[in-house]
Amino acid sequence: MAGEPQADCLFCKIVSGDVPATVVRETETVVAFRDINPQAPTHILVIPRVHHPDAASLAAAEPGIAADLLREAGEIAAAEKIDGSGYRIVFNTGSGAGQTVFHAHAHLLGGRGLQWPPG
Ligand code: 5GP
Repeated sequence: MAGEPQADCLFCKIVSGDVPATVVRETETVVAFRDINPQAPTHILVIPRVHHPDAASLAAAEPGIAADLLREAGEIAAAEKIDGSGYRIVFNTGSGAGQTVFHAHAHLLGGRGLQWPPG
């Protein structure tokens, strides 16, 4: 069922604590942790506790949690002190766009210059 934990989902396992991660923030609805393969000095994944396959599905089913995720990303950017120089929030959606984990997540990237357009 939409929103329920999925046994084969890596990020559901991070939410449950079955897979370890370097968690930087937890709320009732959101967990944020450092990416295992960082693409910038600050690279944090912000995910909902509930399982939805991508950000658009999350926003359609649970818009309040999607808003929580974005708000927390902004607050983490301030806590990481990357808000002054600028940061990027990315939602890879679909394998053709580079999505590899099909549990909604925002990449929060900063701490270096970021080019546009992305590759
Ligand atoms: P996607 O490619 O789906 O947009 O992003 C998935 C992200 O999850 C990648 O940036 C990848 O480095 C990260 N990742 C994959 N496995 C793990 C893991 O076990 N722990 C952590 N912290 N990040 C992971």
